[in-house]
Amino acid sequence: MYVLFLGPPGCGKGTQAQYLTEATDFLQLSTGDLIRAEIKAKTELGKQLESLYSSGKLVDGGLVLKMVQKVVASEGAKSILFDGFPRTVSQATAFGEFLQSVNKKLDCVFSFSLADSEILDRISGRMTCADCKAVYHAKTNPPKNEGICDKCGGELVKRTDDSRESVKLRLEEYHRETEPLKEFYKKENLVYEIDASQPIEMVRKQIFNKIEAISK
Ligand code: ADP
Ligand code: AMP
Repeated sequence: MYVLFLGPPGCGKGTQAQYLTEATDFLQLSTGDLIRAEIKAKTELGKQLESLYSSGKLVDGGLVLKMVQKVVASEGAKSILFDGFPRTVSQATAFGEFLQSVNKKLDCVFSFSLADSEILDRISGRMTCADCKAVYHAKTNPPKNEGICDKCGGELVKRTDDSRESVKLRLEEYHRETEPLKEFYKKENLVYEIDASQPIEMVRKQIFNKIEAISK
């Protein structure tokens, strides 16, 4: 099964992706994580992507699609949760053509919605494990021991693109480039709405119930 998480930065996509991958055989394909891994490893591609990434702008869609194609090709029949991709109508169109060429299709697009004012709170309190990528929040989802990941004991760090200026830009880009994807996928009858202002556990249940319903 292929599903997609669509929603503004900080609405909880990564948090929910983690629950899903822990409890099912879904693989999370987060283009943001793939880009961060390239930057951390200081690869040529990472160096190419770093300045746009840190500023909060979208990076080159062609490069991102290549990364996605590589993972899809190597994962064969595995179920994949696409997180943070596609981000523009042109990425979605190219992605659709690619899926068709490998005889695959999307089964559901989970569309998360959350007010911009709440997004700023979520991102300013976000901490991520440098090792296993688990996501925490200073107030709404704190770790048991400050600065330390509950799951693996790794160090919790702030993302370099979570500055106020970058968040503002990412939100503008989201509304301009990514939000139109909701209409794009509505035309394909794939959209399932998620009110992302609900507590984490309620969102989790809603997603799990829907996945279960699709699987039947
Ligand atoms: P995204 O992957 O969409 O950018 P994250 O999953 O990283 O978002 O979540 C952003 C922040 O909000 C994190 O600090 C996370 O712990 C917190 N968070 C996620 N979902 C909720 C929720 N439903 N209620 C309150 N806080 C949440
Ligand atoms: P995310 O981890 O999804 O919040 O993404 C963080 C940053 O990675 C974005 O602000 C972009 O700079 C870059 N990025 C992630 N996915 C994409 C994509 N599909 N297209 C272009 N840029 C992306």
